[in-house]
Amino acid sequence: MYDLIIIGAGPAGITASIYAARKKMNFLVISKDIGGQTNWTKNIENYTGYLFITGDDLVKKFSEHLKRFNIQIKEFESVTAVEKEEDFIKVITEKNEYKTKAVIIASGRTPRKLGVKGEEEFRNKGVAYCATCDAPMFAGKDVLVVGGGNAAIDAAIQLMKIANKVYIADIDSQLKADPIMVEKIKNNEKVRIYNNSSLKEIYGEKLVSGVKLDIKGKTSDLKVQGVFIEAGSVASSNFTKGVLKNEAGEIFVDCGCRTNIEGIFACGDVTNVPAKQIVTACGEGTKATLSAFNYITRKK
Ligand SMILES: Cc1cc2nc3c(=O)[nH]c(=O)nc-3n(C[C@H](O)[C@H](O)[C@H](O)COP(=O)(O)OP(=O)(O)OC[C@H]3O[C@@H](n4cnc5c(N)ncnc54)[C@H](O)[C@@H]3O)c2cc1C
Repeated sequence: MYDLIIIGAGPAGITASIYAARKKMNFLVISKDIGGQTNWTKNIENYTGYLFITGDDLVKKFSEHLKRFNIQIKEFESVTAVEKEEDFIKVITEKNEYKTKAVIIASGRTPRKLGVKGEEEFRNKGVAYCATCDAPMFAGKDVLVVGGGNAAIDAAIQLMKIANKVYIADIDSQLKADPIMVEKIKNNEKVRIYNNSSLKEIYGEKLVSGVKLDIKGKTSDLKVQGVFIEAGSVASSNFTKGVLKNEAGEIFVDCGCRTNIEGIFACGDVTNVPAKQIVTACGEGTKATLSAFNYITRKK
């Protein structure tokens, strides 16, 4: 029986685990990876104390911090259910079942799928969700970025340095991204923006060779070898049962990261807390562990 299980090792879960280690709690971290969305981030300029740091370097710093406190992580393990029993909480993964007095859910977010024909079939065969991770594979190729927010324009900026041509398909009449981001792509001759456009189909043989785009109500073929889907993200909260969530699947928490179920806490991007940022996730991770620590101490 653990005192605490932390689900997720992004900024929120890592910070929660550092606080748990310093409180000498008997705890376990279970996560699919280390770093979470920070792994998909190219440049970070708003994490306090760093004028600039790459996502890769920040994940390295996170890992060093985990090592410093000798924190053990069950990495590459995915939680499939969290169930509250009378005296304990059961955390079930595809490999194991664990018992604990308290749980912190810090499972963050995953990219939103569009559900269009060919999206699943060509995943990793030309269809990508992370420009930071996958842009280098499209050197000299023609690519399509789907979306018009900051993530989409950030992807276009990364791709325009590498790819031959970068098309952007945005469902709205105007890009929603911050003007400072739009400025960076506006006059680049490699970039072409299709407003009022949506992706209908991705096709190819073994790899992507083109897409069908609805541009202002008219379907057109576009020959591309890569499709970057940047249509936002969804909260990774499917495995929770009985925990109250909003329509977007974000877990409701109070100012102490407590959910509606005693002993279950949540923090970071998986919650309804606004401002989904690294620094916010770290702060919420801190609060979650301190609340869990008080809860366990009270129980004892
Ligand atoms: C492209 C991009 C650029 C960004 N740029 C910035 C920026 O410049 N500055 C900034 O402050 N923020 C930025 N962000 C946002 C920032 O990355 C997030 O707000 C932050 O990572 C949230 O941390 P988190 O720990 O809550 O969640 P995440 O980072 O999403 O981590 C969630 C963790 O949970 C794990 N997990 C998920 N489901 C399960 C499961 N079922 N079982 C086990 N483990 C699970 C994941 O593997 C991961 O380790 C960016 C995000 C993106 C996508």
